[in-house]
Amino acid sequence: MYSIAYGPVPSRRLGHSLGINNIPPKRCSYSCVYCQLGNTMNMQVERETFYEANEIAQSVKEKVKQVRKKGEPIDYLTFAPDGEPTLDVNLGKEIELLNSLDIKIAVITNASLIWREDVRQDLQKADWVSLKVDAVSKGIWCRINRRQKSLKLEAILDGMLQFAKIFKGELTTESMLIQGINDDSGEIKRIAGFLAELKPAKAYLAIPTRPPAKRTINAASEQVVNMAFQILEERLINVEYLIGYEGNAFEFTGNVKDDLLSITSVHPMREEAVIEFLKKADTGWKVVEKLIKDGSLMEVEYQGRKFYMRKLP
Ligand code: SF4
Repeated sequence: MYSIAYGPVPSRRLGHSLGINNIPPKRCSYSCVYCQLGNTMNMQVERETFYEANEIAQSVKEKVKQVRKKGEPIDYLTFAPDGEPTLDVNLGKEIELLNSLDIKIAVITNASLIWREDVRQDLQKADWVSLKVDAVSKGIWCRINRRQKSLKLEAILDGMLQFAKIFKGELTTESMLIQGINDDSGEIKRIAGFLAELKPAKAYLAIPTRPPAKRTINAASEQVVNMAFQILEERLINVEYLIGYEGNAFEFTGNVKDDLLSITSVHPMREEAVIEFLKKADTGWKVVEKLIKDGSLMEVEYQGRKFYMRKLP
């Protein structure tokens, strides 16, 4: 069993982010073509208790203690599990329990359940929220996010607008641009129109930088990403790219095997990041070979680079 709290991992948006994996692998309401965790094995839209709220809080507090003992910084506690964090019915309670740590709390959600009032109330308790907006046209949404069939795009978009009106923290969005799916100027203009109404503090434009679930998909071209940037900016949206590498600053908190497995279960690591991490832990590559051999870690290649990922059951 790898731990609920993992990292801290370097985050392009959140600095040193201590991750919270509050969902068992991999439960999601979407099965996005670009998902770095592979295809969704357990698709669901019902919220439930996966772990007790106290168990989550305890795991995070323990990890924070270890990290602080080593003098490492933590900028955010981030709900970024290997699945959709709002499926956890205790999310709001967990945020309340973690407030005592006096560290900002972030939630990265696909927003598919934001049409529910209880989900909006839970998310409202966070300091920073990222909502996924890959498409605003039904056909494109179905192709890119491969949603659970009962979900309705209109209700989701309306839920986001309702949430934006009440949320006091920093609201951001993330749009992944995939070649041949959502990278035509028509859909990008429609996304820009929606974002102009939503008014996030920042809208991030992303392309896949880790191995995607559907290996045949490709990132939108540089020209398209640049065009999307210009289209969003014209609508006075504060837009930023999310396409750079996040760096190799993965923190070692005491147990090499546990740290590697808990990080790579939600965040595939590049080969050079693993090497740097092992240096910090003062250990060699053998530990990686052993994890690969016993089937808990896998090596995958993407765009000429080697990545290491936790093998999901
Ligand atoms: S990218 Fe996020 S929302 Fe999409 S399938 Fe993966 S975990 Fe779910």
